[in-house]
Amino acid sequence: MTGKRTDYLSWDEYFMAVALLSGLRSKDPSTQVGACVANPQNKIVGVGYNGFPWGCSDDDLPWEREGAFLDTKYPYVCHAELNAVLNAITTDLRDCRIYVALFPCNECTKVIIQSGIREIIYLSDKYKHTESVQASKLMLKKSNTVYRQFIPERSSILLNFLTE
Ligand SMILES: [Zn+2]
Repeated sequence: MTGKRTDYLSWDEYFMAVALLSGLRSKDPSTQVGACVANPQNKIVGVGYNGFPWGCSDDDLPWEREGAFLDTKYPYVCHAELNAVLNAITTDLRDCRIYVALFPCNECTKVIIQSGIREIIYLSDKYKHTESVQASKLMLKKSNTVYRQFIPERSSILLNFLTE
């Protein structure tokens, strides 16, 4: 008797991989972040990546990180978490969890909490020393929203378009 495959993706690996794959859609030259929202039944209900709002061309607005505020990307860009929540196929995200490569900033944390998402699974917390992330963690604690780091058991997943 043949048993089932043993090297299949875990749910955490699957949703984090979808988040990372979504990030590849970003046009941002410096930071590509994706996000994936999964519901308690392990169905994907929203995905997103960082980009400009609808109708705002990726070629017309600046992607700069430095300079006058209006000449940088910051006033315009929608973060992956915001897009994942707003792109959700259901508006009820209560008890869902969100997978993100990077620990959410304070603005996205507000969106996550208000949407009803109850858990954040992140890969990197490299901005943990910033006040933005400190504010995120304060709000998450007060709202009893849990978060945990995703510790991968494999370093990469290979996708191959050329099958035989
Ligand atoms: Zn954000």
